Amino acid sequence: MTLDPDLVATLQAAVDARRDAILELFRELVRTPSETHPPGGDEGPAQAIVAARMRAIGLEVDVFEPTDVPGVESHPGWWPGLDYAGRPNVVGVWRAGASADGARPGGRSLILNGHIDVVPAGDRARWTHDPYGAELVDGRIYGRGAADQKIGIAAMLEAVAVLRELGLRPAGDVIVENVVNEELGGYNGTVATLARGYTADAAIVTEPTGFAVAGAEKGGQVYLMRVPGEAFHHAVWERGSSAIDNAIYLKAALTAWEQQRQVETADDYYYGDRARACHPRAVHADTVWYLRAGDPEIMANPTEAELCFWVDHLPGEDREAMLRRFETHVLAAAAAHPFMRGHPPVLERAVMRPFTGVSVAPDEPIIRALQAASAATLGRDVPLIGLEAATDAMIFNEYSDIPAVIYCGGDLSLAHAPDEWVHADDVIRSTQALALAILEFCGLAE
Ligand SMILES: [Zn+2]
Repeated sequence: MTLDPDLVATLQAAVDARRDAILELFRELVRTPSETHPPGGDEGPAQAIVAARMRAIGLEVDVFEPTDVPGVESHPGWWPGLDYAGRPNVVGVWRAGASADGARPGGRSLILNGHIDVVPAGDRARWTHDPYGAELVDGRIYGRGAADQKIGIAAMLEAVAVLRELGLRPAGDVIVENVVNEELGGYNGTVATLARGYTADAAIVTEPTGFAVAGAEKGGQVYLMRVPGEAFHHAVWERGSSAIDNAIYLKAALTAWEQQRQVETADDYYYGDRARACHPRAVHADTVWYLRAGDPEIMANPTEAELCFWVDHLPGEDREAMLRRFETHVLAAAAAHPFMRGHPPVLERAVMRPFTGVSVAPDEPIIRALQAASAATLGRDVPLIGLEAATDAMIFNEYSDIPAVIYCGGDLSLAHAPDEWVHADDVIRSTQALALAILEFCGLAE
């Protein structure tokens, strides 16, 4: 598909003309903290801004807390134990498709889905910019959630606004979903939109992909591994066994698992080909983010080490079978160790919702529409990739018939870190690209 060059030029000019207003909305969203703090979150004030903008644009606006949706807690995608008081989803609908009397046939409908919540700003001393200042410095806008993913929230709202302003009516309905509680494995905001009945022919999840089109994302499991040791006075440590040394030994087993899986997954469409994934290995298992062992007061071998890590699995694989194989692999490595042979580690699947790898077929119309829109916006082709992280696309692909892909400007590697930022230009280009993708996917009404 190629977009009409006149249409592209018209849209780009219109978005450029609205640049200041688009950036002001984006910065207002960044200045408004919307942190997830399980079991709760502070998304309410930012969602009020979103709802007001949707009303000004002229969308039908639906504001509802996830737990207000009848039956949502028995939806197979629901994860229990979270509190949604004061944390509404905000959905805006542009009924552009089939007329009620059937006189105007509907084109393809599209969901744009983004999460308004952000991870906490963390230690302010690590930021050189105010995490809620939305400071604009040398073309960059700084703040928690700038990349992940208030750029996507602002871009999808303004994409719809500019189409309406230009009188460019898509041939199908466009549904803009601003959900709460995606971060830290929440995902119930999007589950609630499905339970409320929102559906379309495809969905774009507007997480930052640096304008690449992500047709897949990984699944995974968080583990807490307890590794034993045996305490002896540090002067005769060799009579015992250090849990730290044993943890390091087992970390090598995690690396070996990655290498074995690398070979097994070499033919995977999205993750076997290194051109489609940004990491050197297809499957991660040795990224330990937490290690605790020993007691500074005792001067003896530590008797226990605790490690937390994440083990990937790829779309199309049997998740449970993969995890059982992984656990068997670690216990076999322990069985070959002189101390752990008799004192095996304990692998606990840490309590977080299960993440299942998902993918859509590379020839899905939504992928082709986004590639065309992105190329027209950037003046270059963009790659089709498999995303390393999990997103709400998992909820659509796992629990509905709606093929969901991930796409927007912004750099995922800057997310969840101090001094998170995006290029101001990328906010504008994301708006252009999403507006073009809507027209390319839904078609332009007569
Ligand atoms: Zn995100």
